[in-house]
Amino acid sequence: MADNWILLGSVRYPAECLKCKKMIHRGDTAQWLKGIGLLHPRCSLGSKPISYVTYPKNAASDKNPFENILEHTSTYYTAKEWRVSRD
Ligand SMILES: [Zn+2]
Repeated sequence: MADNWILLGSVRYPAECLKCKKMIHRGDTAQWLKGIGLLHPRCSLGSKPISYVTYPKNAASDKNPFENILEHTSTYYTAKEWRVSRD
């Protein structure tokens, strides 16, 4: 797992919870991910702490792969022309 959440028994630097946006105060218990921020332990319950990785929109996978399924490729037509020219 790339994410490395650490349970802090006593927060040193107050920060907003990433999930509920409420303040986590100095001395509170919180989940901390380096470079990302803090979460209340109860805010991370029920699932793994949220991973804030977002994926860029991918044109290739968002496109319907069957869009042109009934069309022949130019390679097909080139081969067909070559075949016809042999007769
Ligand atoms: Zn929270």
